[in-house]
Amino acid sequence: MKLKIASKISILSNPIEYLKGVGPLRADMLKKELQIFTFEDLLFHFPYKHLDKTKIHPIGSILPSMDFVQVRGRLISMEIMGEKRGRRLIAHLRDQSGIIELTWFQGINWVQKMLTVGNDYVAFGRLSFFLGKAQLSHPEIETLKESNEAGKNFLEPIYSVTEKLKARGLSGRAIGKLMYQLFLVLEEKEFVDNIPFQIIEHQQLCSRWKALHQIHFPKNIQQYEEAVKRLKFEELFLSQLRIGMLRSTRHRFSRGLLFSKVGDYFNNFFHSHLPFSLTGAQKRVLKEIRQDMGSGKQMNRLLQGDVGSGKTMVALMTMLIALDNGYQSCIMAPTEILANQHYEQFKKLLQPLGIEVALLTGSTKTAERKKIASGILDGNINFIIGTHALIEDTVQFKQLGLAVIDEQHKFGVAQRAKLWKKNTIPPHMLVMTATPIPRTLAMTAYGDLDYSVIDELPPGRTPITTVHRLDDARPQVMDFIKTEIGNGRQVYFIFPLIEESEKLQYEDLMRGYENVKAWFPEPAYWISMVHGRMSAEQKEINMQRFVKRETHIMVSTTVIEVGVNVPNASVMIIESAEKFGLSQLHQLRGRVGRGTEKSYCILLTGSNIGKDAKERISIMCQTNDGFKIAEKDLALRGPGDIQGTRQSGALDFRLADLAHDREILEKAREEAENLLKKDPDLQKVEQAALKSFLQYNNSSTPWGKIS
Ligand code: ADP
Ligand code: MG
Repeated sequence: MKLKIASKISILSNPIEYLKGVGPLRADMLKKELQIFTFEDLLFHFPYKHLDKTKIHPIGSILPSMDFVQVRGRLISMEIMGEKRGRRLIAHLRDQSGIIELTWFQGINWVQKMLTVGNDYVAFGRLSFFLGKAQLSHPEIETLKESNEAGKNFLEPIYSVTEKLKARGLSGRAIGKLMYQLFLVLEEKEFVDNIPFQIIEHQQLCSRWKALHQIHFPKNIQQYEEAVKRLKFEELFLSQLRIGMLRSTRHRFSRGLLFSKVGDYFNNFFHSHLPFSLTGAQKRVLKEIRQDMGSGKQMNRLLQGDVGSGKTMVALMTMLIALDNGYQSCIMAPTEILANQHYEQFKKLLQPLGIEVALLTGSTKTAERKKIASGILDGNINFIIGTHALIEDTVQFKQLGLAVIDEQHKFGVAQRAKLWKKNTIPPHMLVMTATPIPRTLAMTAYGDLDYSVIDELPPGRTPITTVHRLDDARPQVMDFIKTEIGNGRQVYFIFPLIEESEKLQYEDLMRGYENVKAWFPEPAYWISMVHGRMSAEQKEINMQRFVKRETHIMVSTTVIEVGVNVPNASVMIIESAEKFGLSQLHQLRGRVGRGTEKSYCILLTGSNIGKDAKERISIMCQTNDGFKIAEKDLALRGPGDIQGTRQSGALDFRLADLAHDREILEKAREEAENLLKKDPDLQKVEQAALKSFLQYNNSSTPWGKIS
């Protein structure tokens, strides 16, 4: 096996300057501009399109709608016209059906020397029409003999290049010529297949060699598609295999705290203090969590649940299990507002059980901070709720058994990793997110974590009605709000303020606030406001006034986007809704519909908004289902931008596209899982090729085992 790898390395790892037609200068350019250092790098620079050179068009049947055309005929005239800048070479090519004009503005002398009137040629180029006449300017032109040479008469690959490369003569087509050279020196036997034979058979894939050749030089569209299918499958299969191995290694070998029992705290709370009965989904997830924590391995679980699905209660009850086993737990939230809210809620629920809860945030005063720190260290405090302040080195636990991370997409991997180090044996990790992740992303970006979904909302919620209104319908909207407030409801006004520091947007917000105030004057109406420029204390005061129903209206920026829970608020107005992304709109909308009252979300925009914005708004009006919205978001924006995905290379596929290749991904995952079930460490002889391939290409495993 080693030998084969060695031979693979010997050719594919050749420096690119050794390829015929490259040389040191071009090699430098290729390295700088396209990161092509070796033969292998070039091989994996796939074309972004092909020009169809399989067809010869009869000149008489050429239509203005055609893009590139290839014609064959006799050169019947050639002459130089014009002077200086206007100087050009004009030639005419005739076949049985008609005549076409060929024009050159550059390299005139050279072209003229190369061509002979009366000979037959094949010309290929971009079609233009001038005064009703078909014309090819700067066509490629070849004799019939050249054109018949092997490797020319097919779909010609065109590669993406940079402007700099173009300027140095390395065009998208020139790269194609290099690729042609490359395939002259590559040999099929270099390409050990990295997908087990049975899987290739089962999925009806072509061989690796064939795929790599055909993706560059297909003879027809079917060959191209066959190649793409195989290579996409390969990418996804290998990534699923890596992820699967990580997950299975963790399951088998990671050391974790054994929480063997569910004790009095949990049971007492469950039977006597739970304010409602759990949904089926909440119960199922708790069961999954108990199993994890009772296995002796570290739990590393991602909990997904749409906004309002009741994740907090799951977190609280998981923390009770930790306490039953003698361990402390913490919950980290992305904002102080949210940490405060959890704290108030936990305190109220846990007081009857005599459990100490502490709150630690950036605005905790020094004296209080010291007191909490010592309480955490000596073990008097069992539940700690906080923000980033929790991960500071000064925060030391007696024995931390569980860390919950709320709204994980607001935290970086490094921050989460710090919590792992707060105990000698890493604590169990429960990572919660309300940003629904499309299934394809969950399987890739988060595939190494265990994964639970709360796919059910607590009973008694009436779905939120979402409508789109233009700015000039404002009076009706305001009337509606007055009625709702009259019925005892509360209302959010959200203004876009993406960069909290931008002065202009800040002024917009203030103008918006004044506007709202003009519609809803004191003392009939009271308004709270929170935004990113306020101190945490100010924010909290304003928030609390709204929570306590002292104000009717909350004017806010997206600081309230995550987690805020005021069940009596039933109307959300989103101003300039076109400026928000889909998942952000969904998060914002999740602030209403939390109680039993009918809730509304009104998206306000001007009449002149872009196509994508229209699409987003129409999706919002059609569905409340966060998973559907996430799928649409993925399709509209691509995986790189989706909030809540990891930035790492986990999503860097060369060909596969998570928005569209779900079917291939599902198959790849299934095959990877089956294989690992039979042979978890790929130790069987027949997997040797695959295993060494994974090791050889291992540098691309970009993410740790961090939840
Ligand atoms: P999220 O999943 O968005 O964090 P929360 O945990 O904030 O949602 O829960 C939203 C609201 O639903 C809260 O007011 C919470 O008390 C309530 N809730 C949670 N679980 C249930 C349940 N099983 N039955 C009724 N209400 C529930
Ligand atoms: Mg929440």
